[in-house]
Amino acid sequence: MKTLLNVKRELALAAHRAYTRGIQSGNGGNVSARVPGEDLMIIKPSGGSFIDCDENSWIITDFDGNIVEGNAKPSGEALLHGTIYKYNPSAQAIIHGHAPYTNTIAYFHDRLPAYNYHSLFKLGGFTRVLDVPKPGVTKDEVHLIKELYEETPDVKAFILPRHGLVAVGKDPLDAEHNAELVEETAQVAFMTELYGKSKGVTIPELTDEWWQSYLESKKK
Ligand SMILES: [Zn+2]
Repeated sequence: MKTLLNVKRELALAAHRAYTRGIQSGNGGNVSARVPGEDLMIIKPSGGSFIDCDENSWIITDFDGNIVEGNAKPSGEALLHGTIYKYNPSAQAIIHGHAPYTNTIAYFHDRLPAYNYHSLFKLGGFTRVLDVPKPGVTKDEVHLIKELYEETPDVKAFILPRHGLVAVGKDPLDAEHNAELVEETAQVAFMTELYGKSKGVTIPELTDEWWQSYLESKKK
């Protein structure tokens, strides 16, 4: 099992990558990871930039956001992170950022359009836009995350409209790679739709039928 210090260092590295890859600028967003072997999470406090995170940047809270270790104010997004850990046992780490292409595409679609195969392969299917009509997830929206994982336990990401992306992974860097892929997929969709419109051409998205047939072919 990884040590707490290892996970804190991985989380700082993931935060740096997310900043440099445009997943989160300034001091918004949040990253977290499970405390090895316990129902607790290591999470960035409110404020502070991803790029400045190091192994000492974190607090530890329970899955309701109550502080167990550290003096800083818990992030307002702690409930979002804790809810994911409660209902997705395979999620070991979470990256949440206000990525610009993802936000833009989410105004026009109820899920991330898949023009590229790898967004489906690596993100476990289509990345949905959840119906959260607030700047943050509150107790009223917890059921949406619960239902998402009941219906599609393998998905690695979802989108909060007018807000940003949420990506999970088996460790902090895996979650960060998934966050990058969400934003990359949104960027491809943005350019494909804009360029297609300028050319009078509509490029077809990959469909549910295509994805289901791909999954069936993998079983054979
Ligand atoms: Zn946020």
